[in-house]
Amino acid sequence: MQAIWGGDIAPALKRLKGMGRPVAGCFPLYPPQELLHSMGISPVLMWGLGGGSSELVLADKRVQNFVCAVGRRLSQLVLWDSGQNLDALFACNACDTVRNLPEILEAGVGEQGTKMRWFSLHVPAIPMQEPTIKAYFANNIKQCIRELEALAPRPYSADNFLQSAALYNEWRSLGRQLDIASGKGGLPFERLVRFALEAAFTPVEESLAAGKALLKDCAPKPAPKNAVPVILSGIMPPPPAFLKVMEESGLFVCGNDLAPLWRTWARSPQPADAPEFYADFYSNHFPCSTLLPTADARPEALLGLARERGARAIVFIGEKFCEYEYFEFPYLEKFFQGQGLATLLLEFGVDDLANVAQHATRIEAFAESLAQ
Ligand code: SF4
Repeated sequence: MQAIWGGDIAPALKRLKGMGRPVAGCFPLYPPQELLHSMGISPVLMWGLGGGSSELVLADKRVQNFVCAVGRRLSQLVLWDSGQNLDALFACNACDTVRNLPEILEAGVGEQGTKMRWFSLHVPAIPMQEPTIKAYFANNIKQCIRELEALAPRPYSADNFLQSAALYNEWRSLGRQLDIASGKGGLPFERLVRFALEAAFTPVEESLAAGKALLKDCAPKPAPKNAVPVILSGIMPPPPAFLKVMEESGLFVCGNDLAPLWRTWARSPQPADAPEFYADFYSNHFPCSTLLPTADARPEALLGLARERGARAIVFIGEKFCEYEYFEFPYLEKFFQGQGLATLLLEFGVDDLANVAQHATRIEAFAESLAQ
């Protein structure tokens, strides 16, 4: 199975499995990777996967074709792997799709004779400032730790957790630096996306080394003459062929709030024991439509980013059938247009990987209108 950005998944999974730790396939968007890492489990974040509808044969037997591409593709991965490399699944309650998939996939894998464990974490949909909500969430984390201890090679320890949290915070900080460098022309945006998505299948220690090497080669350079700076916003980055069309049309990506990039990197939580760390992590995350208590802050946060990076327009990359993002688009478009920023909403589904022609026409027309 191919990843859109990171090559063939099979060798990457096999390699992780060969490292001798249990491998947990984590559902997007923001699983507690530090916790899994600290207990000796390798987290694999199942996004950035490829596959058009003709390749999603296993998934389509289980999941309706009006589920988003993220859900269909990760279903294909889990059913195809069928427990060869993935020892467990880990799900947070990001959306209805993610909430319902673990049981469906567990049954699908079970039919192939493999018993797959799955774990979940419930993140409250209301703010955690309220002490009872925070206490409820702390209990969820503790319960999750108890359940993970059945799979993990080592029990939870606060010291190990702090070390893992420090590693992931360093990775986020590196992501921020690379993102800023890319916005100044020091790193092609396509390379930045590849770095972010390869990290999903790579041990964090190796991603850190790769990111540091990348950062050394970044040298700010002016955007191409007459290029229009734009922000890309959405759950997943568009396919590489589409980025090429943007560039050829005279648009320069000066920033983004894509989920695997800036939304993931924007903030490093304070070092603390796991319940405290994750209360901070989920409550004060860069706004994301799937973290409901943060969603109200999204327009201002995105506007701040656009102003900071000197953007003239925002291109929304809609993930087809993702109701969370689609609820917000009408309001966001109106809000940004009121702030003098042009907007364009595009929609990508499972069959848009190679077929970018329809989007190319729209992006060219948009670029032309901005150049006037
Ligand atoms: S793209 Fe949207 S619907 Fe699909 S898994 Fe992500 S949040 Fe859920």
